[in-house]
Amino acid sequence: MRCSKCNNKPVYLRPDLCKQHFIEYFEDKVKSTIKKFKLFEKKNKLIVATSGGKDSLTCLYLLTKLNYHAVALIIDEGIKGYREHTMSGLKRFCEKNKIKLTSVSFKKEFGFTLDRILKKTDQNACTVCGILRRYLLNKYSQKYEVIATGHNLDDEAQAILMNLLRNNMGLLARLGPATGISAKKKFTKRVKPLYFCSEKEVMIYTILKNIKPEFIECPYVTTSYRAKIRDILNNYEFKYPGTKTRTIGSFLGINKKLKKQYGQTKQNYCSICDQPSASKICNNCSLLKKIK
Ligand code: SF4
Repeated sequence: MRCSKCNNKPVYLRPDLCKQHFIEYFEDKVKSTIKKFKLFEKKNKLIVATSGGKDSLTCLYLLTKLNYHAVALIIDEGIKGYREHTMSGLKRFCEKNKIKLTSVSFKKEFGFTLDRILKKTDQNACTVCGILRRYLLNKYSQKYEVIATGHNLDDEAQAILMNLLRNNMGLLARLGPATGISAKKKFTKRVKPLYFCSEKEVMIYTILKNIKPEFIECPYVTTSYRAKIRDILNNYEFKYPGTKTRTIGSFLGINKKLKKQYGQTKQNYCSICDQPSASKICNNCSLLKKIK
């Protein structure tokens, strides 16, 4: 078997590509996503939400390599046996690549680690974590024009299916390569440069580029609804290759209509913290009220 562009041995199949051509294929895919969906320009100040995992490190690495002005932000939720490892990996990566890193923690910001909060509530770990993380990401990205995340094609396909199955049409309408584009006050535009890159492709890219992310999973991930959807989609992808790409394609085909019908037209602000909120009190402040 040979690379479809030259005579070398492939490192990736479907499309069959050697190391050099796989790297070009991957980087071209990210570049064309940035261009086609107008995610950002060279003049924009970007902050990359990082976890120290392969997706966010790849996103940070590539934006820096492509000469975008990008800094890194990590949220330390306080998950024992997990976050301290990914944090130290990220610190090493940022030092090596001379990238400014800002670290924010649940403990400092809210007074509790996630481990501690979960002892006070019976809500699912990822739901609680997601609410608090989103609040902090938005709060600490406001000095920047764009916040980039490492969400890949697998993540997006999972989010589409999750929201469909739960009839969360408002949340479904908010998905896509770029969100928050109406330049709402106190809401930073969010973008996903790896939108069309599969989990497998990102993994191969990190190996070929020697990015060395921490391959450690959050201990709470198995309890999540997303993990179950991930397994279903992986199973379908195995049986019917292209399932995830087609899921994204179907979604993008109706995305404009969804936004028109279910998108939020008026932006409200939380009466407690003054951050953007769909209701009078934002999810973050309601949660904090319950656990304090
Ligand atoms: Fe938070 Fe869930 Fe992700 Fe763990 S898996 S970091 S609890 S969202």
